[in-house]
Amino acid sequence: MAIVRFDLAHPTQRQVREGLISGVIAESVAIPVLLTAVVVGQHPTRWGFILGALACFVVAIVYLAFSIVFTKGRSGVNTHAHVAFVMVCLALSALGFIAIGASDKFGVFTPAVLVGVTFVCIIGDRWMRIAIDSYAIALVALISWAQGFRGSELASLMIVYSSTIVIVTWIIGRTVGSLNGTVNFQAAVDALNQTFDDAETQEAETQDAEASTAIIRRVLDEGLPLVTDIMPAGSVVVFARSGRLGRFTPLVSWHADQQTITELAELPELAQALRADAPVLTESHCAIPVGYCIDGELVMAIARAAADARLTHRADEASRLLGAAFARVTSRANYVSGLHVESRTDPLTGLANRRSLFERIEMEMSHALRSESPLSVAMIDLDHFKNYNDRFGHVAGDTLLRSIAAVMVSNVRGQDLVARYGGEEFCLVLPDTDLVGGHHLLETLRTGGRDAVSEFPVTLSAGLTSWDGFEDPNSFIERADQALYRAKAGGRNRVVSIQAFTEF
Ligand code: GH3
Ligand code: MG
Ligand code: MG
Repeated sequence: MAIVRFDLAHPTQRQVREGLISGVIAESVAIPVLLTAVVVGQHPTRWGFILGALACFVVAIVYLAFSIVFTKGRSGVNTHAHVAFVMVCLALSALGFIAIGASDKFGVFTPAVLVGVTFVCIIGDRWMRIAIDSYAIALVALISWAQGFRGSELASLMIVYSSTIVIVTWIIGRTVGSLNGTVNFQAAVDALNQTFDDAETQEAETQDAEASTAIIRRVLDEGLPLVTDIMPAGSVVVFARSGRLGRFTPLVSWHADQQTITELAELPELAQALRADAPVLTESHCAIPVGYCIDGELVMAIARAAADARLTHRADEASRLLGAAFARVTSRANYVSGLHVESRTDPLTGLANRRSLFERIEMEMSHALRSESPLSVAMIDLDHFKNYNDRFGHVAGDTLLRSIAAVMVSNVRGQDLVARYGGEEFCLVLPDTDLVGGHHLLETLRTGGRDAVSEFPVTLSAGLTSWDGFEDPNSFIERADQALYRAKAGGRNRVVSIQAFTEF
C-alpha cells in the first residue's frame, strides 16, 4: 500500500500530518548523510559528476510529475509541503553529488544511499521503490566506472553496493511501512468517523425523508476517498439496490469511470453481501452492505488494489470496519432526516421490513418443500404515488401508506406476511397459495379490500409469481418484480402473474 499518496487538490489534515511524519523521517536520515558527504567531498569537482547529479534531480522531478499525472492519487507523496520537501531534498542530494564528486572510493556510496534512503522514506509504492533502487544502482555503476574502477574490482563494488541498498531499502521500507500502516489503519477509521460527524452536523437541520439521500450522498462522497486507507482500492462505488428488478444504481463513486461502474454493478458479490448482511471478500473485490437510503439498500463495491501482504490478512477486519463505519453514518443520516430504519419492522407502517421479509421467505421455502405445498410472493407498488405526494404533501402520503398497509394486513390470512419492501412498495408472502389463489387475493386488494370498504385515492399494480422449488429468495422476488414491471408497463392498476418454469 502507498504509505502516503498524492492528493494535491484536497489534502486532508491526516494527509498533511502523514506527509510531514514521513518528511521528517526522510530529513533526519538525509541531512546527516548529506553533511557527511559534503565534508568528505574535498576533491575538485568533475563535469561527469555534476551531470550525474543533475540527471538525478531531473529524474526526481520527472518522477514527481509522472506520479501526479498518472497515478491519480494511488501512490507517491502527498501535500504541497511534502512535495516541496522532496524537491528540496533532491536538490540537496544533487548538490551532494556535485560536492563529493570523485572524492574517494567510498564517496561512491554516499550519494546513492542518500537517494535510496530518501525515496524509501517517502515512497510506499513497491514498484516505484524498485525503480528508484535500480536507478541508484545504475548511477553508482556509472560513477564507479568514471572513477576508474574496472573488471572484478567494479563487479565486487557493485555486488556490495547492490546488496547494501537492497537490505537498507528492505529494513527501512518495512519499518516505516508497518509503522505507517498501523497508524494509517486506525487514523483512517478515525478520520472517516470525523468526516461523517462534520458532514452530519451540517445537515442536522434537515428533517425530510427525501433529503436523506442527499445527506447520504454527501457524507459518502466525503468518506469514499478514505476507504483506500483501510482497504487498498483502485475504485470504490456505492450502489443503491432499487426494489424493482433489484438493479444496482450507482450513488457515489471514487476513481471509477463508467466502464468500471458497470463492471462493479454486475458483480454477484453485491447481492450476496446484501443477502448475508455481511461483507463478501474475494481477491479482487469486496462488497460491503452499508445500510439503506430511500432509494434502496446500499452496498459498497471495492475493486481491490494489488494487495499488500501485510494488509491482506487484515482485509476481513478492514471490510467489517468499513461496513460498520458507513452503516453507522447512513443510519444516522436516515435518523436526522426522519427516515428511521429499525432492524425488523418498518416504523412508518409497522409492517415487516425487508430483512424480516427475506428471513420469512427462506422459512416458508423450507416449509413448502417439506409439505409439498405451493408458495407465492407478490410485489405491490402504488401507482403514480409521487403525484399524490406532490399534490397533498408527504405527511398525507405517509398517512395513506399506513392505511393501505392496514387494509392489506386485514385482508390476508394469519400465515401470510405483508412487508414494506421500499418506499411505496409492498411484498406479500403467501404460503400454501398458488397463482390462482394469489391472483384472487391481489384483485381483492386492488379493488379496496374485502367488500370494498376502503376507497383509496391511488390505484395499485401488483406482480405475482410462485416458487419453482429451487431458486433462491432473490430470484424468486425478482420474478415477482418482473411481473409488477409488466403490470406497470401494461397500464397500471392491474395484477400480472408469471408462472415459474417448473412449478410443483
Ligand atoms: P409508478 O410507480 O406508477 O411508476 O409511479 P410512482 O410515482 O409511484 O413512482 P415510484 O414508485 O418510482 O415512486 C416512488 C415515490 O413514492 C417516490 C416518493 O415520492 C414516494 N414515497 C416513497 N416512500 C415514501 C414514504 O415513505 N412516504 C411518502 N409519503 N412517500 C414516499
Ligand atoms: Mg409507485
Ligand atoms: Mg415504487
